Amino acid sequence: MGGDIESNLSQLVEEIKGLFGAKRRFNVPTTPAAQKPAENAIPSSGGFTAPIHDEWHSSGGFDLTAKRPNGRVGHQGVDMRAPAGTPIYPLADGVVTGVGTDPLGGNVVNIQHANGVRSYYAHLSTVSAHKGDKVTTNTIIGAVGNTGNATHTHPHLHFQVWKDKQIQEPAKFFSVPAYTNLSVAEKQRGPWLSEKAKQDAQAFNMKNHLASRQAAFSKSVDKLLKLSFEYSKITK
Ligand SMILES: [Zn+2]
Repeated sequence: MGGDIESNLSQLVEEIKGLFGAKRRFNVPTTPAAQKPAENAIPSSGGFTAPIHDEWHSSGGFDLTAKRPNGRVGHQGVDMRAPAGTPIYPLADGVVTGVGTDPLGGNVVNIQHANGVRSYYAHLSTVSAHKGDKVTTNTIIGAVGNTGNATHTHPHLHFQVWKDKQIQEPAKFFSVPAYTNLSVAEKQRGPWLSEKAKQDAQAFNMKNHLASRQAAFSKSVDKLLKLSFEYSKITK
C-alpha cells in the first residue's frame, strides 16, 4: 500500500514538474534539427529550422521601413504563405512562454529558445501548444490560418524572431525565398489544406484551449493533495 502511494507520488511529481516546464532551465539544442522533407527547412549549427516544414511561399518580407497599404510602417517578420491547416513547428527547441488571441495577431504563440532567442507565430487557425510546454523542432504548435488582422488575406504564418530583445531578420535563421504572388497551383488548391483542417479551425476555441490546461493542472493538484494526505497518515 505504502509502495503504491510512493510510486504514485513520484509519478505525480514528474507530471507536475512537466506543467512547470517554463520555469525550468532548458539546454542549448545540441542535436541537429530534424531531418525533413522540405527544401525550405535548412538546419543550421544553431538548430534552427523554418517553422513550416511543408512547401511555403513568401507573401511579405522583413522590412522595418517600408510604408504598407494599411498605413503602418514596417514589417517586423516574414509572412509564410501556405494553405490554412498546414502544421507549424518551433524555430528551435524551447519553451512556450505564451499562447493567446489578440486583435492583430489573432491566435498567437510565443516561444523562448536558448541564447536569448525568442520567436512569435501569428494568425494561426488552431493552436495545439500550451504555455509551459517544452517543444522541439518536431512539435506541432498549431496550424496556419488567417486570424486577427489577416482575415482578408490568403492564409499565412506571420513569423517574428528576436535575439536579446532586438528584432532580427528571419533570413538569418532559415532560408527565406523572394516574395511571390499566388501561383496558379495555389489558386487551384484553394485556401484550405483539407476539409478536416477547416473543421478543426471552426471547432477551435481559444478560451476552451486555455481552460483545458487549467483543468489538467487543477486535477493534478487535487491528486497531489489527496496523496499528501494519505502519505501523512502513513508516515505519522
Ligand atoms: Zn506579417
